[in-house]
This record gives sequence, C-alpha cells and structure tokens, in this order.
Amino acid sequence: MASVPAKFDTLCIHAGQEPDPSSGAVMTPIVLASTFVQDGPGAHKGYDYSRAGNPTRTALEGCLAALEGAKHGIAFGSGCGATSTLLLGLKTGDHVLVGDDVYGGTFRIFDRVLKPFGVEATFMDMSSPAKVREAVRPNTKMLWVETPSNPMLKIFDIAAMAQIAKEKSLLLAVDNTFATPVLQNPLALGATAVVHSTTKYLNGHSDVVGGAIMTSDDALAERMHFLQKAVGAVPSPFDCYMVLRGLKTLGVRMRQHVKSAESLAHYLESHPQVKNVYYPGLVSHPGHALASKQMRAPGGMISVEIDGGLVAASAFLRAVRVFVCAESLGGVESLAEHPAIMTHASVPKEAREAVGIGDGLIRLSVGIEDEGDLRDDLDRGFAAAKAAG
Ligand SMILES: *Cc1c(COP(=O)(O)O)cnc(C)c1O
Repeated sequence: MASVPAKFDTLCIHAGQEPDPSSGAVMTPIVLASTFVQDGPGAHKGYDYSRAGNPTRTALEGCLAALEGAKHGIAFGSGCGATSTLLLGLKTGDHVLVGDDVYGGTFRIFDRVLKPFGVEATFMDMSSPAKVREAVRPNTKMLWVETPSNPMLKIFDIAAMAQIAKEKSLLLAVDNTFATPVLQNPLALGATAVVHSTTKYLNGHSDVVGGAIMTSDDALAERMHFLQKAVGAVPSPFDCYMVLRGLKTLGVRMRQHVKSAESLAHYLESHPQVKNVYYPGLVSHPGHALASKQMRAPGGMISVEIDGGLVAASAFLRAVRVFVCAESLGGVESLAEHPAIMTHASVPKEAREAVGIGDGLIRLSVGIEDEGDLRDDLDRGFAAAKAAG
C-alpha cells in the first residue's frame, strides 16, 4: 500500500496497514504484549518494550502521518500528552507565543505546569500577523496556534505564522484537532509540527482518549520519540486499534459533520433568540475569507450566544434530547456544552470574558444524526430557554 499513490479517503483506510504477515489477518492485530523476544541480547525484530514501541501503535502512526502528509507520526495517550511532550522540548528561560483562546487544557499546561519551570508564555489574539511578529522576543522559541480556535472559532493565518516562524527561526506548532486533515493541512502551509487530540474527530466515536504529533522534521521526530519513551505518555494498543478503526470513516464523517453544521449555523443566525453565531462558514464571521482560503470547509463546530445568559443557556442544555450535554467534541453523536462552566472553567473569568466566552455561550459539536432531528432539538432548547427567561 505504501508504494501505491493514493488519495485521502484511501489513505484513511489503508495507510500504515498491511495484512498481518504471520496469519494473513486483514485488520491490524492488537498486540497487547509489553515485551518482545530477543534472539540474543539486543537482537530483536524492532520492538523490545511497548513503552518504546508497539506494532499496533506503529500501524496507527503510519496512518496518522499519511493523513497529515508528514514523514513521521507519533501517537500519544492523550492530546494533552502530545502537547506536553512537544513542550518538553523547551527549557527554562524560553518563551512561547500562544493563541489567546486555545483549548483550556493547553492553557493550563502553560500556566500551571510550565510556568513554575521558568518557561514563559504570552497569550495573544493572533489575528494580526504584524502584532505576532512584534511580540517575538529574543528568547521566543515557539508559536503555538490553534485554528479554528476553541470555543470562539477564530481563524488564524497559518501561512503567515509560518513566515514569521521562518524569519525568526521558531518552531510553529498547530493544533489541528478542530479542522482535521480532511479540512486543513498545516504542514503544507509551513508548520513544523501538527498536534491532535485523536479523542475528537480522528477517532470520532467518543470511546478513546488519545493524541498525536505529526512532523516531517527528522530531528524533531527523533526528539519526540526520545521524550515519549522517557516520559511515557503512550497510548494502549487497544486504543491504537480503536483510532485506526475510527480513521477509516474520517472522510465520510467529516463531510456529513460539515453539511449539517453549515445548515444549522444558517438556521441559528436567523433565530430571534440568538445574539451571535460563531461559525467560520458564515459570511458574518470575521475569519470567513481566511477560512475559505486556508480550509476546504468550515468544520462541524458552532458556538452560539443566546439571549438570557446563564439561566437561558442552562435551560437550553437541560432541554435538548438529541444533543447530549457533555464536554468533548468530534464524535458521531451531537454534543452541546457550556464553555464557561464546563470546558473552559480552568481559564480565569477575566481571560474568558476578554475573548468573548460569556454566560450565554453554548458550544455545539454537530454530529451525523438526521439533520431535521438536530434542528427540532435546537427548537426544543430554545423553547425551554424562553420559558426560563
Ligand atoms: C481535547 C483537545 C485537546 C486535549 O486532548 P485530550 O485528548 O483531551 O488530552 C487539545 N486540543 C484541542 C483543540 C482539543 O479539543
């Protein structure tokens, strides 16, 4: 398979995977062994201990690398495990520029874990490349970009960030969890490394926590393999199998997520109880033009600010029946959540409000259920929100 030129949907199903040579099994076996036989000391078949490497993980890593057009894929036990391992490449005195509405857990790694080690981070709105360039200091080593951002779905210009990274010799890391490689390819736009929470769209069924780093930089990949082996944020073979299985339908799932999200975003925009809809596919979205250039489609996530603040938002989230009130995103089932109380509770209130995460904000992960059922469910939410106000 590796030698046959193939398009994205074919890679989703085949990349990194060959029928098992020992049995002919068409699907990748789950190799649970923690240790591997050596004919003599040091004479093994490429695997010695499963923290360092595992055949099921290797298959997943081959597939992940192919989907991002990368030379290397490294699978982790969680998205945060991937993020923190990448950031362990930094040292005391280094500085990082980070988008101001990154995933709450990413903010927490910078603010609560790395800061005490003397790694500094500046959180900023990366909408203006000129401002980002100005903010680079002599000790800045990395740009950390998440686009579309979470939960405000701001769009940042990856190619412009790559230009700055090149000029200033910085590593550009892009969290591509929201877009997925179906919709956006940061490495092709000049990023050094892509980070994913495979927990989300890549696995797509809300039954695995996992992460990944993809890069074509050999030295960085070697360093990441070393750090992963040293620190240990590895995924289980079973979870690797589950993500491989989920990836097979990534293309078809994303097309349906986008189709329903586009239609619901337009519906929400015209709804009388809605103050603001944040969806990069809407012409009213400040990042619309950039998203049209940088992404193949605007994705499956919508944030919506409804009238009536917390009381209305709570009533809405209690009333919906198809959308499930839960954290996370990217599964086949639709989810709805309240960022201020749920996913972004670890971000201080002032910081939340500065980026627009108010008490009436609801984030929707549009699943692939029937589109009409989803629309009826939103109506159920709005009726309850009105009654509560
Ligand atoms: C969920 C998420 C993460 C963290 O991933 P985990 O698998 O939960 O550790 C990082 N970035 C983004 C954008 C996410 O949505």
